Amino acid sequence: MNASTNDHYAEAIISGDRATLARAITLIESRRADHRQQAHQLVQHLLPYTGKAIRIGVTGSPGVGKSTTIDALGSYLTAKGHKVAVLAVDPSSTRTGGSILGDKTRMARLAADDKAFIRPSPSSGTLGGVAAKTRETMLLCEAAGYDVILVETVGIGQSETTVAGMTDFFLVLMLPGAGDELQGIKKGVVELADMIAVNKADGDNIKRAQQAAAEYRAALHILKPASDGWSPPVITYSALTGDGLAAIWQSICDYRQSAESAGAFAEKRRAQQVTWMWSMLEERLLAKLRADPALKTRLPQIEKQVAAGKLSAVLAVEEIASAMGL
Ligand code: GDP
Repeated sequence: MNASTNDHYAEAIISGDRATLARAITLIESRRADHRQQAHQLVQHLLPYTGKAIRIGVTGSPGVGKSTTIDALGSYLTAKGHKVAVLAVDPSSTRTGGSILGDKTRMARLAADDKAFIRPSPSSGTLGGVAAKTRETMLLCEAAGYDVILVETVGIGQSETTVAGMTDFFLVLMLPGAGDELQGIKKGVVELADMIAVNKADGDNIKRAQQAAAEYRAALHILKPASDGWSPPVITYSALTGDGLAAIWQSICDYRQSAESAGAFAEKRRAQQVTWMWSMLEERLLAKLRADPALKTRLPQIEKQVAAGKLSAVLAVEEIASAMGL
């Protein structure tokens, strides 16, 4: 691996070559340190070509219609002349080796669209590690000219917060009825939302979808908006019929316009970079700590003693910190 290989990669990616883009992402996801090192350099090299896309996080419980929505919204956007990349952060794949979001056939129309690029979630590492790879992949896609990036995730653990922290606009999909709306509020995902879209507003479901939307509107009313100066709209739509997709896109465009003119768009990205730097650093320091030869066997014992109430958490931290020379 040398600089000229990276120059070649960079040129091909900027010219929109999909095969090279896919190969470069494979380097990002590689377990080999030299591959990842090469990928970091490539991303650094391509930074001036990144940042122009709108980055949209999409979340919702399994079955809400994420794939159907992304397939339909993505196709709507490529028909309007956009280039759309679909990425995923799927923490389940790191635990079980299987991915909820990985299967390209879930988005059949988009998978066959040459203005779209679909990449399943990286499948190894911690949530932070997976998100780091998706972030770098996002930058490569931007350099390759994709101007709409959709980052999909499911409501498991911290993944929604993580994806909201790497995107400009966080779209939360909900189902009509079934108590789902209250569940969502409990999970706190509503607090992250820049928009709530109630799917499956078709056939017999229309009324229920509208009721759910009214409840979300009421709930949002009492929450602090996720993004400054923006009141998250709540709409109903159908990924199946396509009704309401244009309204979703219009809201995203409105958000971008208002956030850009207020300076909030760039500010949010700057803040995300800084938060990101610290979270990567924390993760690395913790990994070093956990792998420390002096602590490796002692840490589980300390944890047990703390759990059993035999050692106070404060003293445990003292011991660990002094073993690390802190
Ligand atoms: P995901 O698990 O969130 O990715 O959900 P899917 O996109 O796989 O959709 C789950 C099920 O809901 C599938 O059977 C879809 O056909 C169905 N579905 C998705 N969107 C709609 C919609 O707008 N209306 C109706 N009636 N069904 C939908």
